Amino acid sequence: MNYVLDFSDGSKEQTDLLGGKGANLAEMTKLRLPVPTGFTITTEACLDYLQKKDYVSENLDVEIRQHIQRMETRKNKLFGSVKNPLLVSVRSGSKFSMPGMMDTILNLGLNDETVFGLIEKTGDARFAYDCYRRLLQMFGDVVCGIDKNRFEDQLDFYKSKKNYRSDTELTAEDWQELVRVFKDIFLEVTHKPFPQDPYEQLKLAVEAVFRSWNNRRAITYRRLHGISDSLGTAVNIQEMVFGNFGSQSGTGVAFTRNPATGEKGIFGEFLLNAQGEDVVAGIRTPQPISELETLMPEVYQEFLRLSELLERHYKDMQDIEFTIENRQLYLLQTRNGKRTAKSAFKVCIQLVEEGIISKEEAIQRISPSMITQLLHPVFEPEQLKRAEVFAKGLPASPGAASGKIYFTAEQAKKASDAGEKVILVRQETSPEDIEGMVVSEAIVTSRGGMTSHAAVVARGMGVCCVAGCEEVQVDEFLEQATAGTVTLRQGDTISVDGTTGTIYRGSIPYVEGDEWQLLETITNWGKEIAKIGVKANAETPSDIKTALKLGAQGIGLARTEHMFFGEQRIFEMRKMILAQDEESLMAPLNKLKEFQKEDFRTMFELLQDKPCTIRLLDPPLHEFLPQIEEEIKHLANETQRTVAQIKHRIAELHEQNPMLGHRGCRLAVTTPQIYEMQVAAIIESAMAVSQESGVAIVPEIMIPLIGSKEELVWLRERLVQTIEQIFETEQQQIPYKIGTMLEIPRACLTADKIAEASDFFSFGTNDLTQLTYGFSRDDSVKFIGVYEERKLLKSDPFQHIDEEGVGALMTIAVDKIRSFDSDIKIGVCGEVGGDPQSIRFLQKLGVDYISCSPYRIPAAILTIAQEIL
Ligand code: PEP
Ligand code: MG
Repeated sequence: MNYVLDFSDGSKEQTDLLGGKGANLAEMTKLRLPVPTGFTITTEACLDYLQKKDYVSENLDVEIRQHIQRMETRKNKLFGSVKNPLLVSVRSGSKFSMPGMMDTILNLGLNDETVFGLIEKTGDARFAYDCYRRLLQMFGDVVCGIDKNRFEDQLDFYKSKKNYRSDTELTAEDWQELVRVFKDIFLEVTHKPFPQDPYEQLKLAVEAVFRSWNNRRAITYRRLHGISDSLGTAVNIQEMVFGNFGSQSGTGVAFTRNPATGEKGIFGEFLLNAQGEDVVAGIRTPQPISELETLMPEVYQEFLRLSELLERHYKDMQDIEFTIENRQLYLLQTRNGKRTAKSAFKVCIQLVEEGIISKEEAIQRISPSMITQLLHPVFEPEQLKRAEVFAKGLPASPGAASGKIYFTAEQAKKASDAGEKVILVRQETSPEDIEGMVVSEAIVTSRGGMTSHAAVVARGMGVCCVAGCEEVQVDEFLEQATAGTVTLRQGDTISVDGTTGTIYRGSIPYVEGDEWQLLETITNWGKEIAKIGVKANAETPSDIKTALKLGAQGIGLARTEHMFFGEQRIFEMRKMILAQDEESLMAPLNKLKEFQKEDFRTMFELLQDKPCTIRLLDPPLHEFLPQIEEEIKHLANETQRTVAQIKHRIAELHEQNPMLGHRGCRLAVTTPQIYEMQVAAIIESAMAVSQESGVAIVPEIMIPLIGSKEELVWLRERLVQTIEQIFETEQQQIPYKIGTMLEIPRACLTADKIAEASDFFSFGTNDLTQLTYGFSRDDSVKFIGVYEERKLLKSDPFQHIDEEGVGALMTIAVDKIRSFDSDIKIGVCGEVGGDPQSIRFLQKLGVDYISCSPYRIPAAILTIAQEIL
């Protein structure tokens, strides 16, 4: 089996075998772009190694040597040569990019001898020793697990001894001395000298990359992103090019469009005279890429040309790593750039407009979580004006959050576990911090740019982040952060605005963000494709407006009981419930009718000709009764009764099992006047709005909790009578529909019979799940988690449809209804109607629409469209 593939032999499709980085390096090589030569050790080699635990097989070893020899011939250099040494980088690269999770080693091949070769070749001893000490640091850290600070501390100590402020002041002799010091650290910690044989270095480095697949932070990252543990990582070995080769060299990272806002145009940073990880690690704060235009115009132009070429080739925004060695540009990596949801939407729309991708491709690139992120919170503008600014930094990942500050990942995690909202504040973050970052509301760093670890990871997670707040001195040891005269300590509250890069003292209320237009464009494309409708569960004017803005095609469920909780209304409702004769029943009902008419009028006015399904009263009556003494007294006063009488009536209404008791259509069977009032209010307001607006409104009246045809026939007759009376009085008619919900298993099993009396159906999967499983909607939270843990349930059936059980009943019902009348409209309005996972099943089931809460509408539309595509 071949374990190694030359860059020139692979392609971008081979991400399984070569990892993302390897596949893209191969693709760029194929496109004849300036990529340093190299080869990829496959993920299969990694899996094989991990299985055997401890050694690189002889075959692999032979293959690596052969490929190194090919590089030697091509580049006319020798691995281990004292005259003209070949130096390589070793980088991991799995199928899915895992920023910073795996480790990189640069300058491999240097040793006490070859360093002279590098000096001879470059004529620059300072550079050569700087490279050597970097190798010692990276190799020590990645391969041997030596604490990075051991090296950094020695470097700092040396600099302060010499009175140097920056690394650039160190001379060749200084770096040579530090190489000695670093080798001593190596020997002290590992009890072995730094390996001088380049092949030995390479073997150890490759093994370390293989092993890093299973380090804790990599495992955490995979779990967080649902990446399989069985993929393994590839290893890329590539000839070194040097960004730290003086002032005409440099290294950087750039996106072809802005990863935070989506704005078109190159966006990135670079550092002059720096090597590889300096930019990504955020150790020095880099310059914006636009400055490269003045420093090296021809390099900048070439970079623009190549990045456009790559973007068109990959048909997506690219994140490109590059190095400039003596004004010669090299591309070290390209990949589809991680971006905020806002940027993702914008880029998709731009790419469609530019003819690079189709609308269909754009739709497929949108995930439900991106939509959630798009509706990110922002601070309330008025409150923001009064807030005290603590510091400013780079707006690395948008959003707004307040919380208590912690200076280490562990402390943040502990505080979050204890229920606090936390904000992680650090000089810079590294992959070790991932567990603390995951639990944070926001992340703040004092160092590093827009592509630093903190920025990239936060953006990926959709967590707000301000990076590179250079005015803030973060002391992780003393647990404090100082900006100017203000010092904040652990546990103090701050507010972070990741959209503007501002940090405020104290907590600030926020409002949900609204990037409506971006969302609208793509959901409209989705609607063109989606074959089933998406309606909203909404009844208040503000929810209806939101739903319409987010793409709802109408209202699939207006729960009228929600309209009875206003101060005046609840009081009339209570009077109605307490009534013991026709007269005392009708007085409050007539008042309620006026309220209802207003409600329905507003709904119809907002919806115009869009469908509107109004469900009649559903919950058990005791939900409306007063609980506290004061309210009971008030009710007694107003109804000229005693407190004891009221309490007696409350006791009468008590039920052992209210969910299975006197609710839904059963209320109307015993007291039909309630539904008659509601239906009159619906029809009268529909008539009025139809007349005023000239739009034909067809109200859909929905009766809940029907279990038999007889119930529905009985109720329907009474309601039709009410409607006929109105038509006669008003001397006009409007069309209307009376339908029912499918919430009771018996209704599903007899749906063909019920269909004889129902103009439409809507599955109430909340009650249907409750009654199919016999799990109480209100109490099952107590055990469902344990069921999931013990694998007795795949998932909570109230969140994701239970296809096997509830789904089977739904299938029976749909078949039966369609056998009676194939045109009858069937919808779903339970919670699962808004759940992308469940929507896939519901679509197969053949329902005509789903109805869900307003904020879930765009994701529902796109899920439906994606399924079709
Ligand atoms: C249902 O049961 O699924 C439903 C939509 O009605 P409710 O949640 O109001 O009981
Ligand atoms: Mg219900």
